Amino acid sequence: MYKIIDGKIISGSVKDRVAKEVAELKQKGITTGLAVIIVGEDPASKVYVANKKKACEALGIISEEYALPESTTQQELLALIDTLNKKESINGILCQLPLPKHLNEDEVINAILPEKDVDAFHPQNVGKIMLGDYDFVPCTPAGIMEMLDYEGIDISGKTCVVIGRSNIVGKPMGMLLLHKNGTITICHSKTKDLSSVCKKADILVAAVGRPNFVTADMVKDGAVVIDVGINRVDGKLVGDVDFNAVKDKCAAITPVPGGVGPMTIAMLMQNTVTASKKQNKVI
Ligand code: NDP
Repeated sequence: MYKIIDGKIISGSVKDRVAKEVAELKQKGITTGLAVIIVGEDPASKVYVANKKKACEALGIISEEYALPESTTQQELLALIDTLNKKESINGILCQLPLPKHLNEDEVINAILPEKDVDAFHPQNVGKIMLGDYDFVPCTPAGIMEMLDYEGIDISGKTCVVIGRSNIVGKPMGMLLLHKNGTITICHSKTKDLSSVCKKADILVAAVGRPNFVTADMVKDGAVVIDVGINRVDGKLVGDVDFNAVKDKCAAITPVPGGVGPMTIAMLMQNTVTASKKQNKVI
């Protein structure tokens, strides 16, 4: 019998923890603030930004939204980031990606002060994750680690396979599992015989971006399967794992929706309160 790893419940417990930390800081006269920048009219990005704002408000985090027109120049965007870097009431800065094509994403990421980089995309924070000495972890892998911890799933010595090597999910995910003594393999589109690699996994993380990509023949009996994928098929949200076919082989599995998705925003809130504590020298 498989267990559903419920992202709604676990993200709720993270948010409770964050709300408590925010309230404790408030008692010391310290506020916590997040600035979210969005450029252009991408509908999915607008939904993400609205959800982030809602989460901030629910947890007592001050949220400032900067909705800039599609025509914004690189200079204008960098000038805003510079202002927010200097603004004391703002502890975290997030620039919603993807940016319109005429803007240079790397330059924008590099412009955010590492101590305010709550997405953990700045090269300095990426390097720290590699070293295992970090303040912020990209929100999705951080959320997955939180889920595994909440469920008491031991990583040490386990064979962990991550499908996907993106900078925001696959690579940091592999690093975090390695830091917990997992034996990791990171797969990608050039991996040979992916199916047999995945079949060895005690913990299998799918971050591919292809609906129902992971099928039952790719999963070991008793595996823990984490589905990061968010795909829209005929207007319906579908993960990267063929849930119905795979679930009975698993010890535990995350659903889509209601799995990893809700964890991502909760961990952004966690990173923001951590930033506030660090900047105010409370930790
Ligand atoms: P990317 O497109 O950046 O990366 C996808 C990865 O999958 C790449 O490394 C690619 O390999 C690999 N891949 C593609 N096709 C295959 C294949 N046939 N076999 C093996 N590997 C393959 O995606 P992201 O990491 O940004 O996102 C992955 C998924 O997670 C998406 O569905 C996204 O929407 C979702 N997501 C969900 C979040 C959440 O909060 N739940 C947050 C972030 C993302 P290669 O490098 O060789 O091209």
